[in-house]
Amino acid sequence: MAKKIVAGNWKMNGMSDDIQLFADYSKSMNVVDQLDAVICPPFPLLGQARSSFHESLLIGAQDCHHDVAGAYTGDISAQLLQQMCCSYVVIGHSERRQYHGETNDMVRQKALAAQNFGMTPMICIGENFDQRQAGEWQATLQEQLNILADGKVDFANLVVAYEPVWAIGSGARAENSDIIEAHAFIRSQLAQMTDNEGDIPLLYGGSVKPDNVAELSRLANVDGALVGGASLKVGDFSQLVEAFGATL
Ligand code: PEP
Repeated sequence: MAKKIVAGNWKMNGMSDDIQLFADYSKSMNVVDQLDAVICPPFPLLGQARSSFHESLLIGAQDCHHDVAGAYTGDISAQLLQQMCCSYVVIGHSERRQYHGETNDMVRQKALAAQNFGMTPMICIGENFDQRQAGEWQATLQEQLNILADGKVDFANLVVAYEPVWAIGSGARAENSDIIEAHAFIRSQLAQMTDNEGDIPLLYGGSVKPDNVAELSRLANVDGALVGGASLKVGDFSQLVEAFGATL
């Protein structure tokens, strides 16, 4: 069975004071087997998170470069993220795909880089509004998942986050039926690549909030959430962690 994960992606938000609030929260958390709570702050805050978070709250990064080192101004290597004690790396978020031109092949290379340095890539996939309207959501997800089919990725160290682009930041998460259908589809695609597809955590992302998490946490094939806005407030984030914790 897949472990549960609640991961907060702060994007380009959050300051030092916010890390301190989450550090205080982390000291009140229990380490729960089979549930990872993760905060992915902007890169410059990783050091403070590393030195102040209790081990019950894990640290993740929002991206990494595929190469080990080199002339890549502004980029961050997976090796450095490992040194900053990151457990997870968000890879291929729709904002990276949209604003930084990340292709499926770049996502593949970054995921391998994260795994090479002992971290778990959280690979984000999801269709945009036009693709859903055109009935192309399955084809889109299939293409995005195909990067895993070359046998190089370690399926035992992988998270897939289904993030329909039209739900991100919209305030309204996708309908339960859409999420159930998409997650079942993703699981079936993964089953064609590995016998252990049931152990790969599948997260949903897109306007998850305290008032809509309870139902989400009980949906089939939903092993957690990747959360933007609601991960910025410690009170909201803690409710999301509790909701998934209650399903264990
Ligand atoms: C995201 O950007 O990954 C996300 C899920 O954002 P939000 O929760 O704010 O919709």
